[in-house]
Amino acid sequence: MDKNIPNSSEKETLAHLGEFGLIARIQQRIKTNPHVLTGIGDDCSVCSFPAGEVLLTTKDLLLEGVHFRREWTDMYSLGWKSAAVNLSDIAAMGGNALYLHLGLGIPPHTPLADLEQFIEGFLALCDQEGATLCGGDTCRSAHELSISVTVQGSAPQLEVCTRSGARPDDVVFVSGTLGDSALALLQLMQGDKPLDEVALRHHRPQPRLRLGRALAQAGVASAMIDVSDGVFSDLGHVLECSNVGAELDTRLLPLSAAVKKHLRHYPEQHRQVIRGGEDYELLFTASMEEQQRIAEISTHLGIPLTPVGRILPVEEGFCYIDHSGTLQRTSAGGFNHFSS
Ligand code: ADP
Ligand code: MG
Repeated sequence: MDKNIPNSSEKETLAHLGEFGLIARIQQRIKTNPHVLTGIGDDCSVCSFPAGEVLLTTKDLLLEGVHFRREWTDMYSLGWKSAAVNLSDIAAMGGNALYLHLGLGIPPHTPLADLEQFIEGFLALCDQEGATLCGGDTCRSAHELSISVTVQGSAPQLEVCTRSGARPDDVVFVSGTLGDSALALLQLMQGDKPLDEVALRHHRPQPRLRLGRALAQAGVASAMIDVSDGVFSDLGHVLECSNVGAELDTRLLPLSAAVKKHLRHYPEQHRQVIRGGEDYELLFTASMEEQQRIAEISTHLGIPLTPVGRILPVEEGFCYIDHSGTLQRTSAGGFNHFSS
């Protein structure tokens, strides 16, 4: 393949360059990785795998008009986010991210410069996390951009953190802050411009790979999930898989200064911002005895880990304390693609 393909001009589109031209551009941008024995350019990728570990595989689709709108995001951020939402699932299992495969359905008149920006954003996060794009598939789509990413990772079998290990009396923790991404989306939908730091949380989330790995390696998390659909919905998944109940104290949910300030002005948006998703923080449960080790991991990584509730026997259901201090019952309500 031609390694000296010039950068695209403004007007160049995929229709000019073709599928293989684009693949060549992706290929020339990828850093070599000694564990990738055969990368882009053959029928399959061939990669080595850490001896004695188990394989983690995850896939997420990002569809134009469903998951993103081109007028709200730049293509670099879209590429970054396409990798991030998948890498976050590896983080949630406590794994190391290794290999990615990227499926693209591209409308033929998409400017090549846009696709290059997309690839730059995608590979910037791969590079940051030491994971390698090894292959994929590229097709023409009729009207909209569709993105499908598969990520593979590894972990020692006994360290894998599933959703099903939460036990009564465990403490529920969340990392970082919640609500920034939902606030950005709300503001975009209202036609307002979100603050830069809030917009960044929505467009370029940071998957918590180091944290997930540290918690898994220390063996402190009884169950773990990433907060993609919203804290209520994702805690709900843990409760269902673990067959337990919980009490979540929404007054304890960690909020950034920007979200706190916004909610002081618009308290009626509390529910929407708090329950919104796409924070890509980690939610995990741990027994009381692990508090000290969790505090150490938090200090070591410089990531706040906040206790926000506790696990209850299944008969107690899913309760939460609202911002006025009243105990409420819930059926988990976050984002669900097939409900309105
Ligand atoms: P095949 O017909 O055998 O599926 P393709 O012509 O679809 O092969 O792809 C050629 C090579 O380019 C393969 O190694 C494939 O993994 C890689 N590839 C195709 N699209 C992408 C993409 N979007 N990102 C990364 N690699 C890709
Ligand atoms: Mg193919």
